Amino acid sequence: MTKFVYNFHEGDKDMKDLLGGKGANLAEMTKMGLPVPPGFTITTDACREYLNKGLVPPELETEVTQALRDVEDTLGRQLGDAEDPLLVSVRSGAKFSMPGMMETVLNIGLNDSSVNGLAKVSGDERFAWDSYRRLIQMFGKTVLDVDGDLFADALEDLKKERGVTADVDLTADDLKGLVETFKKIVQDATGDPFPQDPRKQMDMGIEAVFRSWNTERAHIYRRRERIPHDLGTAVNICTMVFGNMGETSGTGVCFTRDPSSGDSGVYGDYLMNAQGEDVVAGIRNTLPLSALKDTNRPVYDELRAIMRKLETHYKDLCDIEFTIERGKLWMLQTRVGKRTAGAAFRVASQLIDEKLITPDEALERVTGAQLTQLMFPQFDDSASRTLLTRAMAASPGAAVGQIAFDNAAAIRMAHEGTPCILVRRETNPEDLPGMVAAEGVLTARGGKTSHAAVVARGMGKTCVCGAEELDVDLKNRTLRVGDRVFGEGHVISIDGTTGEVFDGKVEVVDSPVTTYLSHGLEAGLKAAGDDEDMADLVRSVDRLLTHADEVRRLEVRTNADTPEDTERALGYGAQGIGLCRTEHMFLGERRALIERVILAEDDLAERAEAMEALVPLQKGDFLQMLELMDGKPMTVRLIDPPLHEFLPDLTELEVKVAVAEALHKDGPELAKDKRMLTAVRKMHEANPMLGLRGVRLGLYLPGLFALQIRALVEAAAELKAKGKDPRPEVMVPLVGSIRELQLVRDEALEIIKETEEKYGTELNIPIGCMVELPRAALTAEDLALEADFFSFGTNDLTQTTWGFSRDDVEGAFFGLYTEEGVFGVSPFETIDTHGVGRLVKLGVKKGRSAKPDMKMGICGEHGGDPDSVHFFHKVGLNYVSCSPFRVPVARLEAGRAAV
Ligand code: PEP
Ligand code: MG
Repeated sequence: MTKFVYNFHEGDKDMKDLLGGKGANLAEMTKMGLPVPPGFTITTDACREYLNKGLVPPELETEVTQALRDVEDTLGRQLGDAEDPLLVSVRSGAKFSMPGMMETVLNIGLNDSSVNGLAKVSGDERFAWDSYRRLIQMFGKTVLDVDGDLFADALEDLKKERGVTADVDLTADDLKGLVETFKKIVQDATGDPFPQDPRKQMDMGIEAVFRSWNTERAHIYRRRERIPHDLGTAVNICTMVFGNMGETSGTGVCFTRDPSSGDSGVYGDYLMNAQGEDVVAGIRNTLPLSALKDTNRPVYDELRAIMRKLETHYKDLCDIEFTIERGKLWMLQTRVGKRTAGAAFRVASQLIDEKLITPDEALERVTGAQLTQLMFPQFDDSASRTLLTRAMAASPGAAVGQIAFDNAAAIRMAHEGTPCILVRRETNPEDLPGMVAAEGVLTARGGKTSHAAVVARGMGKTCVCGAEELDVDLKNRTLRVGDRVFGEGHVISIDGTTGEVFDGKVEVVDSPVTTYLSHGLEAGLKAAGDDEDMADLVRSVDRLLTHADEVRRLEVRTNADTPEDTERALGYGAQGIGLCRTEHMFLGERRALIERVILAEDDLAERAEAMEALVPLQKGDFLQMLELMDGKPMTVRLIDPPLHEFLPDLTELEVKVAVAEALHKDGPELAKDKRMLTAVRKMHEANPMLGLRGVRLGLYLPGLFALQIRALVEAAAELKAKGKDPRPEVMVPLVGSIRELQLVRDEALEIIKETEEKYGTELNIPIGCMVELPRAALTAEDLALEADFFSFGTNDLTQTTWGFSRDDVEGAFFGLYTEEGVFGVSPFETIDTHGVGRLVKLGVKKGRSAKPDMKMGICGEHGGDPDSVHFFHKVGLNYVSCSPFRVPVARLEAGRAAV
């Protein structure tokens, strides 16, 4: 029988699939002997079962009873007991942390009689009634779906009535009255009284957590973070400890290192006399952890010792939630902390220095996506700027955009393609869609551990928070800073690295990390200037990337067809060109020559002449590129796209000819247009991507491939004569049959031989093909006989395997498909390992069965996608080839795949 409930002392940190992140770590801390309040975790299995059947499994109820009694026996108190009540919290905890996504209910077990028991044992009536009103408020909102504003407004009204501003200034009697008001709100909204049975409260809380897995917010977050929708969440039931039992109590969040900058040294926020969510919600501004040192030294020292112990145990930056109840410290949660991209690299490097982890392990701590973020531009120090205010630097980056005050505005602006900054007093989980749409987030309240800060960091969004000088007036949709007032749509700039907020647009420049990646360590350090943190970051990136280069097995090449791209990619560390698309070389003024080739039709002499005129131009291109690539391979793909891309648009041409005829504009131009129109009509295709392109075009227009091959071989021969080391490779696109390849290969070998003789040199030019049609993968053992190498064209292979037109589908129904779970992410972005990936695997296996040492790579867009790089490593490719900008990411990910 499946076990649905684990007491905290039964699990450990490796059971995240079953117990969720929070549950597994609570169990681990319990095992380590740290002060964790007793409790138990309901597994994700139970949640999945509930979501499948829509019913709480009966076995779960009996297991909960046993686990609860176990906790009650340990403490000698019973849930909701009228004299001395045990109270619990019910909190969600999925495998991957989903900040603010799921619901939490505190103080379960309080009712009209146990509130008196709590008042008595705590000796604090005010506290007891405050706890009860919090329960009704939280329970009403999250479990019973009552509009949360009703409670908040009632609280505000009461404070106004009493002439006080802070909750803590309300008396026990005030709160008693508030409890009655809250109970009435529940009764009016749901038609039922607030449940008095403690166990019923708990069971309803558990069910609400299960249900909250499927809220829209949770879906949005999972989609963004690519978390599968079928994992389900665990539920943690934990004995309540109270941070709001007066001035010797408090609650806080801390990190063993700064999750924002990566600086070593502890770091956190806390609030005295406050409960649970007050810190995370960012409603009251918090104190830095160091203030605890002055108010309660022993607890501070104990907390520091635990932080060190946890960091040593997890060998990583940990984030911790704690509560102090009347001077006694309790650990409520820990996890390996989320961090910014910069902090990830710096912390990984520090941990190597401290000999807590090996360089291989350090590679597992950083990702290509983080490196991409570090390559984003930052504000130009020398640009003019008007500082509005300075607040907390919560999540780094430079964001410029129009002010948007809510989700609707942010989403509208994003749809219009207008960058925006979401400006809120504070954020809560409901603001997630706006945060996703915005370039950055600015809040007036809340510390570095507030919802806005935590979520923005997780998403890699720029965030400045706790800007107290800001007055966000939602009603009038204005933002006031001092005596300035801005409306929605006004442009501001926020710097998440310094916490500065500027009026208007501030210019941006390359980040020192990008300077390092393109020009080396010295240049990167110079660009960092006096910014020690940035210099340390540059050094950390260099250290990890260098290690990735040492351990990776995959080579990283680039897709480049201009000298500019080639130079950029070489700067970024490309080891060759894996795909030079030659069609770009036939555009612009050379188009006229291609048109001549096509219009020549049966006039072979005319066609040959037009092609001959193209040879020197094409040779010029190759000379430039081969010279840049000296000593490194350069795969040149013969012309691939459908012919119509070089021809005028059919409709436009028809109109042009019709107008000219109507105006009787006879003459050579009309005659040429008419001939062109005939040719365009003849070649017009309903499905050009499945039509006359690739090797088909080369065979259909004899001489076309030949002119390219000749240009390439002559360029190589000339460079060789100059003492250079050109290494071109010829690649045939869209091959589906061995015969196609044979025909082109024979022709190519002929040209190579002729040219070698003409120049008196030997060139060793490999001839290979793309594997980008299912038939090519399925017959790879045949193709291997005629190919010196394969390059998987996963763009076309995805298109032809799924039957999705790569030029059309992404805008049309892919949104629906990801929503409905047909796939988690577009198969054009991350390789569909289960379908398209199988063809790649098969192609590799079959190809190598014929030629064991055959060189194989991939040059589709997936070559620079982190997840896909890991897959290509696993199936045994020799290289990935990607766009220049993604070369560093591919290097890092190839290293990560190898450790
Ligand atoms: C491919 O199909 O994956 C490929 C690299 O070629 P192209 O994108 O030029 O069709
Ligand atoms: Mg292709």
